[in-house]
Amino acid sequence: MRLLLVEDDPMLGSSIRKGFYRYGFIVDWVQDGLAAEVALATESYSMILLDLGLPKKSGLDVLKKFRSAKNNAPVIILSARDAVANRIEGLDAGADDYLDKPFDLDELAARIRALLRRSSGRTSSVLQHGDITFDQARTAVYYHGKSIVLGARELALLSALMENPGAILSRTQLMHRIYGWSDDIESNTIEVHIHTLRKKLSPGVIQNIRGIGYKLADE
Ligand code: CA
Repeated sequence: MRLLLVEDDPMLGSSIRKGFYRYGFIVDWVQDGLAAEVALATESYSMILLDLGLPKKSGLDVLKKFRSAKNNAPVIILSARDAVANRIEGLDAGADDYLDKPFDLDELAARIRALLRRSSGRTSSVLQHGDITFDQARTAVYYHGKSIVLGARELALLSALMENPGAILSRTQLMHRIYGWSDDIESNTIEVHIHTLRKKLSPGVIQNIRGIGYKLADE
């Protein structure tokens, strides 16, 4: 899953970006309101984490413009504890949730999962496809009930495929899901991660549809 983080506090921003890597969340991080608008106009995100007090353009103005452009990706406001009025205004302008600073990274991750469940109409954070179980709350993957250890990119890749069962995802779509802007991208990277997933699960779990992309094998 790819998220946009809009936060001008460098310590907080970098701790979210680094901390979320282990959940398989890929974070693009911008530090002012104008950069946020550029990111939102050029990329599509599963979730936006938005500070309100930002240089160049306020988070509230960014949010209003985003919603008026009919974008419905979930937004969580990261707010200062004393800014009740701003928080209310943010929720009224189309934010879906808020979290007071300072917050626990695990709580933010749990709220993200809850919002994603709601926006996709699911009631559980456990994805199931055939013999593969992906428990998003624990960031744990099981194959035939046996725990499988996956790296962050493999987790991101598998969750992209499992959230879209039956769909063929192109190489570009998968790249978008597993790499953020500031990541170094190796060549043949999708092929390498698919190879690892097949090795750790089973060779037949992911199908290559020649010239189009990849999909999970039917259950
Ligand atoms: Ca701020």
